[in-house]
Amino acid sequence: MMPLELTCHACDVVLSAGSEDELVDLATEHASSVHGHTPPREHVVTRIRRHNP
Ligand SMILES: [Zn+2]
Repeated sequence: MMPLELTCHACDVVLSAGSEDELVDLATEHASSVHGHTPPREHVVTRIRRHNP
């Protein structure tokens, strides 16, 4: 199975994980620790699905 990827819209770092849930957690952690905000889970899921058709 291909890893899922998501590019952070704020800093262009590419995050990747083996499952959607993992990637949502990773992206949420990244936004929280690096950018100081926690995006709604639904928004992250939408961006992941758009990025990995
Ligand atoms: Zn970032």
